[in-house]
Amino acid sequence: MKKAAVAAAAVFAVLLSVFVFYDGVLNKTSEADFFSMKTYVSAKVTGYESDLCTAEIQKLVENLDVNILSRTSGNSLVSRINKNGGGELDLQTAAYFSVLLDVCEKSGGAFDFTLGGVSDLWNFGSAPSIPDEKALAEALSHSGYEKISLSEGRLSMQDKAAVLDFGASGKGIVLDSVKAYLVTRDIRNAVVSVGGSTLLFGDKDFTVGIRNPEGNAGSYIAKLHMGEGCVSSSGSYEQFFEENGKRYHHILNPETGYPVDNGLVGVTIVSESGLLSDALSTACFVLGIEKGSALAAEYGCTAIFITEDKKIYIEGDADIVEITDTTYSYGN
Ligand code: ADP
Ligand code: MG
Repeated sequence: MKKAAVAAAAVFAVLLSVFVFYDGVLNKTSEADFFSMKTYVSAKVTGYESDLCTAEIQKLVENLDVNILSRTSGNSLVSRINKNGGGELDLQTAAYFSVLLDVCEKSGGAFDFTLGGVSDLWNFGSAPSIPDEKALAEALSHSGYEKISLSEGRLSMQDKAAVLDFGASGKGIVLDSVKAYLVTRDIRNAVVSVGGSTLLFGDKDFTVGIRNPEGNAGSYIAKLHMGEGCVSSSGSYEQFFEENGKRYHHILNPETGYPVDNGLVGVTIVSESGLLSDALSTACFVLGIEKGSALAAEYGCTAIFITEDKKIYIEGDADIVEITDTTYSYGN
């Protein structure tokens, strides 16, 4: 009897250690942090294949940046299209660009991915300054999404001087591509951030901070409680300079070529799609609270608008938002 009890205890101990070992393997977490898409990228993956996934995510993001989306890497698809006034797209890229054209149209041109020439004049990336008025008017005359057509996988530009720019949507394209990869792997969950755009992947309760527009990168004013999805924020605090007491930031009004000045300091969009969350955060910033809310509703997304006077307006699922900085309050 005694021997049998010892044997049973031994078997139990072995089974327990095997279980603990496998649980450790299945819940293993890997992280990668790197610079790409002109911003910081971080990937945190939990699950059996987490090491493989973080390495592959880095390759995938760098590949999309250098070979497809970048305007500075000479041989990328976007650089070649800008140089040649058009080009052939693979099926996936054509699908992304077609969604973007739809956002341009539905936003009435508030979102416009042909503003590259205008953005370049402001030069927010390196040495920003107020552009010469004539140069701005000239660059504006060559922008306009209506000059772009997509047919049978070919993108054509009516005005060869238009400059495609994916600054407001490329991060979202990257998140959707990462998600399409992750669904093929054996993992439990993942959080992947490309600048101000984040993919939350897997069956888990996630908490995401909304950045303090007046504070530094680690300071937050609200939390989002959500499941799988994508969150993107656009704000006047990301890239800006000040001259004569006025702030000039990188989200531009396509009608004037000047930074949007409508009382908003930030917009956050929650969507199943990374591309929509990224593009709509910019579009809704340009449109303002009323028209931006209507656009977010049309796409079935939740939008959170933050104003200069510290009010938070929400369109969509307000239950996911928890204000944590008491100097901010609900506007609606
Ligand atoms: P971030 O790049 O900080 O995440 P956004 O997603 O809002 O912020 O993108 C801003 C970038 O998008 C600008 O740097 C510029 O390249 C481009 N952009 C500026 N205004 C517009 C606009 N009205 N429509 C589309 N793209 C824009
Ligand atoms: Mg954006």
